[in-house]
Amino acid sequence: MSLDIAALRAETPGCRHVMHFNNAGASLQPQPVLDTMITHLKLEGEIGGYEAADQMEERHEAVYGSIAKLINCAADEVALIENATRAWDMAFYSLQFRPGDRILTSIAEYASNYIAFLQVARRSGAEIIAIPNDAHGQISVAALESLIDARVKLIAVTHVPTNGGLINPAAAIGTVARRHGIPFLLDACQSIGQLQIDVQAIGCDMLSATGRKYLRGPRGTGFLYVRRAMLEQLEPPFLDLHAATWVAEDRYEMLPDARRFENWESGIAGRLGLGAAVDYALALGMGEIEGELRRKAAFLRQQLAALPGITVHDIGEQKGGIVTFSKAGIDVTEIKSALNKARVNVSISGQSSTYLDMTARQLDQIIRASVHYFNTEEEIEQLCRVVGELT
Ligand SMILES: *Cc1c(COP(=O)(O)O)cnc(C)c1O
Repeated sequence: MSLDIAALRAETPGCRHVMHFNNAGASLQPQPVLDTMITHLKLEGEIGGYEAADQMEERHEAVYGSIAKLINCAADEVALIENATRAWDMAFYSLQFRPGDRILTSIAEYASNYIAFLQVARRSGAEIIAIPNDAHGQISVAALESLIDARVKLIAVTHVPTNGGLINPAAAIGTVARRHGIPFLLDACQSIGQLQIDVQAIGCDMLSATGRKYLRGPRGTGFLYVRRAMLEQLEPPFLDLHAATWVAEDRYEMLPDARRFENWESGIAGRLGLGAAVDYALALGMGEIEGELRRKAAFLRQQLAALPGITVHDIGEQKGGIVTFSKAGIDVTEIKSALNKARVNVSISGQSSTYLDMTARQLDQIIRASVHYFNTEEEIEQLCRVVGELT
């Protein structure tokens, strides 16, 4: 069954105002997500925040089940966390490293993850090794395999980077991690809601994701998956009275499930909105969503490549929804503002958000046009017209 794009656009208020190619930044929320949040905020205003949470407890609980269905895990392996960075941090900073231990990561790794590696390496004496890419520009699974030895204590890579169409071979990496019994942490921030994700097929032990990007959920939402076998060995870097219970003067007990990575206070409206966004994606079908947005991104790449002076920067054997490009002799800020003037939303990827990758490719700033299934060919043509006319 194919997606009814006209109907999906009709229930996305933003589509009446802008041509949105910033879905890797924050996507446009569909009406059911907005309604869920607005209804809850009103309820909080009417009866009180705690009372509203009590009334919506079943819906709130169902959010865990929806996420579990989306990524094929159990509901008690899911923690709701305010963004993907903190979700990732809660997993990463739970791990202990000693001098000489090695962390294997990707060249396209996100800055926040790499900054955490640097901090932990400085404190612990662990080493960070970026796995070389293959000829397509994605993580070389053969290079990963050759790096494995007793020193490797973690494989932590980004599935889809913030700055391009690259899709790293997560399942092949998972196979290596499983074979050697090495913990595998996957940053799925850009792939969630964009690609079909099955944590069993990928074989990751931990996965972090955000709500506002390809899932089309609210800002300030995210989640962490932790495999049950892994969970029992991990003590989160922070604990509070939700993650643990103070049971005696000198003792606390952690929650038995992934909620030990959560904290007590959070925006319930956002969490309910996240659940609505996941249900929305599930109802459409992640296979349909992935197929549609990858077809459209390929169309944008093809249209851009045909324009004089344009270079498309995406690498990887398989490419997703994030399209990056630049135009010879024209500053990226000029491209972005010309597009904004035409109501076309794009963003700029700078060097520091994926430093290793950008410097290796000698890139400073590039335009990022992140395509979703609800973008139309007319919108893509309009984007190309504006960029093509710039001199
Ligand atoms: C956006 C992004 C993050 C951070 O997500 P937040 O929800 O902003 O914390 C992490 N990794 C990648 C690859 C991203 O693109």
